[in-house]
This record gives sequence, C-alpha cells and structure tokens, in this order.
Amino acid sequence: MAINDHSWRTRSRHHSVDGTVRYQSCHCGAWRVVLVPDEERILADAIGSVRAEPGSGGPVG
Ligand SMILES: [Zn+2]
Repeated sequence: MAINDHSWRTRSRHHSVDGTVRYQSCHCGAWRVVLVPDEERILADAIGSVRAEPGSGGPVG
C-alpha cells in the first residue's frame, strides 16, 4: 500500500467558504480533491518545505 508514491500536482483551485479547494492529479492518472482551510494553508506550506527529514517522528521546533 504505497499510497505515498503518488506525486500530486495541483491542477486547479478555487476558494470556498471552508477554505481553498485544490484539484490535484498524479502522473499515474489518479485524482484527488483536498480542502485546505485558509488558516491551515500557511501552516501546510511551511510543513511541506520543512518535512524533508524522515524518521524524526514529527516536526521539531
Ligand atoms: Zn500516482
């Protein structure tokens, strides 16, 4: 179950009352829709740029 092998790319997005809805596709043809609350979007982007450290058990600092 190597779900994490997908490499999602945002194809389009639009804002809703709940946040930003992103439509993402993988090179394998899979699609997904993710809802990113406005308040968490900045956090998610920050984690995405920092989480290059594997096996640490979670974000540190
Ligand atoms: Zn894939």
